[in-house]
Amino acid sequence: MKTFELQSFEQRVVFGKDHLSTLLPLVQDLGVTRAMVLSTPGRSTGVAAIAEALGERHFATFDDAVVHTPVEVTDRALNYLGDADGFVSLGGGSAVGLGKALALRTGLPHIAIPTTYSGSEISPILGQTRDGKKTTIRDKRVVPQAVIYDVSLTLSLPLDLTVSSGLNAMAHAFEALYAPDRSPETDRIAVEAIAGFAGALPILVDAPRDWDARATVLYAAYLSGRVLAARTMGLHHKLAHVLGGLYDLPHAPMHAALLPHVIRFNEVAAKEQLGLAADALGHESAAEGLEALALRLNVARSLAILGMPLDGASAAAEQVMQNPAPNPRAYGAADIVKLLEGALRS
Ligand code: NAD
Repeated sequence: MKTFELQSFEQRVVFGKDHLSTLLPLVQDLGVTRAMVLSTPGRSTGVAAIAEALGERHFATFDDAVVHTPVEVTDRALNYLGDADGFVSLGGGSAVGLGKALALRTGLPHIAIPTTYSGSEISPILGQTRDGKKTTIRDKRVVPQAVIYDVSLTLSLPLDLTVSSGLNAMAHAFEALYAPDRSPETDRIAVEAIAGFAGALPILVDAPRDWDARATVLYAAYLSGRVLAARTMGLHHKLAHVLGGLYDLPHAPMHAALLPHVIRFNEVAAKEQLGLAADALGHESAAEGLEALALRLNVARSLAILGMPLDGASAAAEQVMQNPAPNPRAYGAADIVKLLEGALRS
């Protein structure tokens, strides 16, 4: 008999194409009369579309969100808040992360409109940096009250980000499969997410604006966000957290480069669970399937190319071992060094 526990979070999710028409009713339902739009620099077309959809309920725009949610940026946005009574974030994990941080500080409602595949919009997780040090909290108050997935808004995502962000999301699904608190339901969700990414990302390499493939990948990202929200992540996410903090590596590409190495390390210990992933990838082995996919998607496979120093493995291993994450295969500092050396020299 399988036993499991589930903590769910109240959240309204709408998914479709050309779906910004759903924004105003959602904002009205949440009682937001003066919305502050949050974004990253350079997203003026999308921001203008949101402002138009909000009409008179658009109060201000703050488009200085950056990766890893630095507390200084959140402070700056707070100074700019004025009479705003809610947030609409448009963009990837950076914009959504700022919305989460502001919602936590103010208690105001937040509607997220994700345009990458990070999955942050579904999760109760918020990573923030102060003086370059990243800390992560899990708190239901950071879960956005509503999420609008609009496939049309993802068409402009450049191919390199599409691929790395997709593999970032796939990492959530992989680690959910061997999480200590997995359930039959999260297994099925994770497998569907992996199959969705594996089938549709290669199509986007050849045709980045293919509607059906974009829709499949966005849906897979939603599913990955759900298992990220529900389950305890393992060694891969721990390593990504540590490497991001220590060496300021680009978030999604770092996940993409690291994942095959962690899955290869874990494959023997989580044979049955990763066998589900292997089937979804259409391969005998999950690690081999992932490596073949990474090759097909032409992702940067070396952490060195992404900026990790060649002698940086020991410092990372030391940090990981200070607070190790649960993992199907036991590990020590020497295992981490070996794994990272492999990822550095790929
Ligand atoms: P990002 O949000 O930094 O976006 C990367 C770049 O893509 C930005 O320049 C952005 O303007 C641009 N962009 C986004 N959507 C676009 C589109 N549709 N068209 C054109 N350009 C677009 O990157 P990310 O990888 O989505 O997010 C990374 C951040 O999210 C990190 O801070 C990470 O820690 C966080 N994250 C958090 C969680 C969580 O559950 N808390 C999960 C995953 C990632």
